[in-house]
Amino acid sequence: MSGASLTLLADEVLTLDAAGTVYAPGAVVIEGPRIRAVGPPPAAASGEVADLRGCVLLPGLINVHTHTPMWLFRGLTEDVPRGEWLTGRMRPLERRVGVPELRAGARAGCLELLLNGVTTIADRYGHMADIAGAVEESGLRAVIAHSLYDDSVERELPIAEALLERFGTDPRRSRVWAGLGPHATDTCGPDLLRRVQALAERTGARVFIHLAQSEQEVAEVRRQGHAGCASYLDEVGLLGPTVVAAHAIYLTDEEADLVGRRGTAVAHCPSSNAKLEGRVAPIGRLRRAGAIVGLGTDAACCNNAMDLFAEMRVAGLLNKVAADDPAALPASDLLRMATIDAASALGIADLVGTLEPGKRADIIAVSRQAPHLLPWHDATPNLVYAARGSDVVAVFVDGRPIVLERRPVHLDPERIVAEATRAALSLAG
Ligand SMILES: [Zn+2]
Repeated sequence: MSGASLTLLADEVLTLDAAGTVYAPGAVVIEGPRIRAVGPPPAAASGEVADLRGCVLLPGLINVHTHTPMWLFRGLTEDVPRGEWLTGRMRPLERRVGVPELRAGARAGCLELLLNGVTTIADRYGHMADIAGAVEESGLRAVIAHSLYDDSVERELPIAEALLERFGTDPRRSRVWAGLGPHATDTCGPDLLRRVQALAERTGARVFIHLAQSEQEVAEVRRQGHAGCASYLDEVGLLGPTVVAAHAIYLTDEEADLVGRRGTAVAHCPSSNAKLEGRVAPIGRLRRAGAIVGLGTDAACCNNAMDLFAEMRVAGLLNKVAADDPAALPASDLLRMATIDAASALGIADLVGTLEPGKRADIIAVSRQAPHLLPWHDATPNLVYAARGSDVVAVFVDGRPIVLERRPVHLDPERIVAEATRAALSLAG
């Protein structure tokens, strides 16, 4: 049975499939939420046609670690000495906002991400039950998790369980689904992590946790008698392909090898790590050892723009410096870390991350026409090192147009930004 179709025509289609197939010019035919065909432009397209000539089509970008409500705090936590950011600066700000402000921040964060060509996010924060609706309304594909800490676990764990109940844990059944979000290895003791592990096993939820993101985290974990943050996670059964560990900065070589050997997914957030810690995570070693590495922007106050194009560039530059090797982490790998590898990290590589028939139609169109993008010899380095989020012209999620001609189709950007700015200004005093 075939329904109405939409054909996207473009100068170029970057499929990012295993063979790296490119069509120039190219077309993607969408039927319902799925891609029906990818190839050269058809002689005569049936159904509706969207003329995106002047653009390159590629899979929507996938942000494997963010906190959308923290949009509110952009610019308020700058140049903080190492060790003071979270407890000294962030927590006091967070205590000053309530759920309505966080919800407004999440709406603005989702809007920013969509306009920058992000179609899937892994979003985690406190109050997630109250924020989830804003994420859902945005049109993004999202896995959401409610943050858990030792000191509030009896109150918060039922909220996390209710979130799993409400959204399910299966990305094949729901555009927004739930995971589990223990905060970090120093704020979650073995009892909490074992409960999370058991719940994950029972429900099929993925686990999202901050891992070795600060020196204090490592010191606290060692004080409790563990060899390191990753060794501790392994002791409680939380290293593996269904765990997404964010940051992974302060790992010994042995720990990086262990994280990789377990096939753990790692959310690499290079801007955030550089800005808040002055460090680069050992991504080369993690990848060589077998970790699945996707890119994350982290929050708007950590990087300070939720733009995965910028994140690809920063990841490339910092990892070349860290490896003392300008050939390290090539552009083609960086583009995969923002698309198909990120999809693998979230367990959705069968759904999204490439443009192939049968996959969900999460597609972005990026202009090839601005002076900073020319000449267009090769799409990959241009997308990784020259393009910006603002070059995104159109965004489709599940075949539905979310952004056209750089404007949201369903969302009211002026209202969203005005409300979130008002909420943020209450913090500025
Ligand atoms: Zn984070």
